[in-house]
Amino acid sequence: MTTDRPLIYDWDLAQFQALMADWGQPSYRADQIWDDLYQQLWASAEDFSTLPKDLRARLDEHFSFVSLRLSKRLYSSDGQTEKRLHLLHDDQAIETVLMRYDERRTLCISTQAGCAMGCTFCATGQMGFRRNLSSGEIVEQVLVFARLLATEGQAVTNVVLMGMGEPFHNYEASMAALDRLGHAEGFNLGARRFTVSTVGLIPAIQRFTAEQRKEGLAVSLHAAEDDLRASMLPVNARYPIADLIQACREYTRQSGRRITFEWALIQGTNDTPEQAHKLVALLAGMNCHVNLIPLNPTQGFAGDKSSRERVADFRAILLENGISCTVRVRRGIDIQAGCGQLAEHSAPLQP
Ligand code: SAH
Ligand code: SF4
Repeated sequence: MTTDRPLIYDWDLAQFQALMADWGQPSYRADQIWDDLYQQLWASAEDFSTLPKDLRARLDEHFSFVSLRLSKRLYSSDGQTEKRLHLLHDDQAIETVLMRYDERRTLCISTQAGCAMGCTFCATGQMGFRRNLSSGEIVEQVLVFARLLATEGQAVTNVVLMGMGEPFHNYEASMAALDRLGHAEGFNLGARRFTVSTVGLIPAIQRFTAEQRKEGLAVSLHAAEDDLRASMLPVNARYPIADLIQACREYTRQSGRRITFEWALIQGTNDTPEQAHKLVALLAGMNCHVNLIPLNPTQGFAGDKSSRERVADFRAILLENGISCTVRVRRGIDIQAGCGQLAEHSAPLQP
């Protein structure tokens, strides 16, 4: 299914203003469209009740309002996690996850179909790169779930760019999507409610820093030595640990914000006391937090998650040395909605 019409979520308010001028419409029509899309969450021009009928019809002819086609919907056994597989206009597949816990309604969204970074333990990396998503395709994932939650009187509280793909390998579209979702007259989700996770593309971290972006930043570290990290994350050959840590320090200095490091714990590989101590040395004096993620199973990687004891020991070493550290609660593993488990055809695996 393809369409020549632009996807309406690919457009900024300024583009609607220009279009309204072009169509001889008053400029407040652009604000109304923006409100209908991002406050009212309407999914079709027919519902834009504030607009005259002929303008609704014209918008309908001009734009596409739906690019994500629901292909599969899965619920975790505890009912708190929902994963959707969507097909895009060119039949590429992406996954989006909604996590409901406590008062939070967190969405984990994709920025690419597949991923070019090839991390060995990640299902998305194992499938390879298909294509970048447009900003509108990124935004629409949030709208789909925002509409669902609205029917229950709820709203999205947090959005993490931790689904399929490397957001900093699709920097422009990812940041444009954040700008659109953060727009005060539109969806209006505060910058602090977003987290961008990167495998460590240094030039993009520097750009994120220079642009003074206010969203949270997480960096996937996973190892404290270059050889070990390169064996898990091929990107390390290009951006080694010392340079990466320097870019991260610079980010914390310039932004005044805490940075998060992610560490998937693999039994007998990167969960040793030696790695923990090396990590302590790397992060000394940095305003940071470490998020430990016991490895989630994927089809193409043989390693096991660390035992409870090893997770606890690793964490204890960090805490004893003054480094804030939490273990991420494993959610949605039974439907392969956990970190690194998203792919186009995720087959059932034993948790
Ligand atoms: N591409 C980005 C964001 C998506 S992945 C990045 O890599 O940071 C989100 C997190 O899940 C990353 O920290 C990633 O390293 C981690 N991850 C990947 N595969 C995993 C697995 N099998 N088990 C646990 N965490 C995994
Ligand atoms: Fe890509 Fe992130 Fe998976 Fe690595 S962990 S392959 S960067 S999605």
